[in-house]
Amino acid sequence: MDAERGTVRSVPSGVRRPAAPAVGGRHTDAPQTGTPQTGARRPPARLPRSRSPLAELPLAETTSPWVLMYHSVAVEKEDPYQLTVSPERFAEQIAWLHRRGRRGVSVRELMRARAAGRADKLVGLTFDDGYADFARHAVPILQAYGFTATAYVVADLLGRANDWDVEGPRKTLLTVQEVTDLAAAGWEIGSHGLGHRALPGLPAEVLATQTRESRRLLEEVVGGPVTGFCYPYGAVDLAATQAVRDAGYDYACAIAHSPLTGRYALPRCYVGDRDGAWRLRAKRGRHRLRDTVTELRRHRLAARAARLRRVP
Ligand SMILES: [Zn+2]
Repeated sequence: MDAERGTVRSVPSGVRRPAAPAVGGRHTDAPQTGTPQTGARRPPARLPRSRSPLAELPLAETTSPWVLMYHSVAVEKEDPYQLTVSPERFAEQIAWLHRRGRRGVSVRELMRARAAGRADKLVGLTFDDGYADFARHAVPILQAYGFTATAYVVADLLGRANDWDVEGPRKTLLTVQEVTDLAAAGWEIGSHGLGHRALPGLPAEVLATQTRESRRLLEEVVGGPVTGFCYPYGAVDLAATQAVRDAGYDYACAIAHSPLTGRYALPRCYVGDRDGAWRLRAKRGRHRLRDTVTELRRHRLAARAARLRRVP
């Protein structure tokens, strides 16, 4: 459980505001080879003298969309894993997004908008574990702003409780009927696997069951395609991303930035009960910063691989 929240809990004191060169800067940092300059005198007649290996990189997805990670929205005295945000605090956070001109959407909608180049003002809203309080407390607040969201539910535990958590209060999970109703009302339902098990290290056949069987079960419940997956505890490795892709999902949510960051390991930003306006702003900045660092590391690795390929 610690891994699910602990890696994303604290805000580094050094990050106080959005890093200016981060998101848009990614493009300006990119090699300019072949890009016509303003008032360019003539097209390049020959290749540049030193051709950077960076220029050979495909123009992949550069920045990650901003996706917030919630679990439970409720009043809870005891909350050892810091999974719970009070309805009042949640309402403040959603109002803050609205004031900033952002619209909260499901990750399904976010990915579609992104593909169409229309994701600028969108932020993904995700709720892990499928707590029953999502329907009771989060949905009415989100509806008031015209926002949508994704609930990632544990396919074989609907109507049960969070028994995978050793400590803390038992929280009831959405029932089959509630999940059916939420999906019918347009809320995205994604898979959080079976039994809330971490995927890394599981044998290939278990990985296939976790991803395929959870999808099959949920598609029966929602009566339509289930295209999003969310790794329990945010734990992900290469085999897990491949299993998710092979099971036919369109995307998957992780938590931390990593070398696997991309469509099948989307980083997310933990939001807790302490997060008011300035902490959310700081987290937005930190997300951009981590995006930049992740991309630079990726470029460095690719450049090193390119150099190695040239060695006879
Ligand atoms: Zn979870």
